[in-house]
Amino acid sequence: MRATRATFLGDSAADAPSKLVWSAVRFLRGAMRTALYRTGALSLYHRIRNQHVLTVVAFHRVLRPEDPRWTTALVNWTMTDETFGQCLRFFNRHYNVVSLGEVMASIEGKCPLPSRSLLITFDDGFADNLDYALPLLRKHNASATIFITSDVIGHEERLWTEDLLWAVTAGRVSQETLAQLHPLLFAGSAYDPDDPMLIWEIVRQGPQVDLARVYAAIHRLKIELAPVTHPRQMLTRDEIAGLVANGLFIGAHGKTHTALPSSSDLLSELCHARTTLTEVVSVQGHAQVDALSFPHGAYTSEVVYQALAAGYRLLFTGDAEVCVLKDGFLTTPVVGRIDVQERRVSRKGKFRPAVLASTLFAAPRQRARPARFGLPSQHAVALPAAVAPASTTH
Ligand SMILES: [Zn+2]
Repeated sequence: MRATRATFLGDSAADAPSKLVWSAVRFLRGAMRTALYRTGALSLYHRIRNQHVLTVVAFHRVLRPEDPRWTTALVNWTMTDETFGQCLRFFNRHYNVVSLGEVMASIEGKCPLPSRSLLITFDDGFADNLDYALPLLRKHNASATIFITSDVIGHEERLWTEDLLWAVTAGRVSQETLAQLHPLLFAGSAYDPDDPMLIWEIVRQGPQVDLARVYAAIHRLKIELAPVTHPRQMLTRDEIAGLVANGLFIGAHGKTHTALPSSSDLLSELCHARTTLTEVVSVQGHAQVDALSFPHGAYTSEVVYQALAAGYRLLFTGDAEVCVLKDGFLTTPVVGRIDVQERRVSRKGKFRPAVLASTLFAAPRQRARPARFGLPSQHAVALPAAVAPASTTH
């Protein structure tokens, strides 16, 4: 006991100066970043470095704090409409915002992309994309693509895994309960009850579990998911068609939102989503859904191969990198995306353009990867080898 206390006090005392130094370094770094942005130096660097680059940014939800859905929205993937508007102003100032149609024309070799191209994307298919993001996109004359999980179209509530994730982050569900939940959902599969990543295993693999089984387990363990169902959480078919009529593009985001490398039915995840969404967009005269974003950003070379074989022509990952173009043309169907998070680009409600600039302007360039596969595409396709998903990618 005594030793523990001494160590605790000793650590605190030793930590104090290093914390002070670290705070000072962070302050200086922030001040330098702001100065570089305000003087135009960062912008000049961006104009030179990213002239022949496609940047793809990823959002999930746009809400107002007074909206009833705000309280349980996951903070890492939710932005206020105010900040989203500021982001759009920033994009228009520093980039040429392009549509998915233009990116598709680029990979087909029909039309090159302009310099400093930027594609705006949303994942999941939340109704707030229509309520709050669309008016702002129209105001700023910007196109966007929404990747939708086909099984949740029209649902009042969001995926149960999102409610569970929120309950865990809010401290309402313990690690012990998660350890009891895992075997009830995935009978027979090995797991470490103390693994802090157990929640992510459940979130990534849970959507494919039969709902009757899920709710029986949740009831048995007395887990209170407390889903918010009003206003409705997910987009309906009519609303998706309305988004297309307003110039937005639709892509697929799996059938159930299961991480594709963990899926027990990969073909269904790829094909059901594409067929369902193609039915919806064809009402507005769009031919078919040809783009996919990987749920949780998770993929392997096998997933890429199967997705291209299923007819997708563009695949979006969660790898935070920009894509280098060749004479304005995309040379790979596998494109990285950079998550834009409220907590990074805004502090106390104040937009921080210098932070967004340093994140996007200096993002790693997607490396050409040598592995080639015999793929159903007219393009030379450079693919990554098996890639593990980032631990907290949505
Ligand atoms: Zn998602």
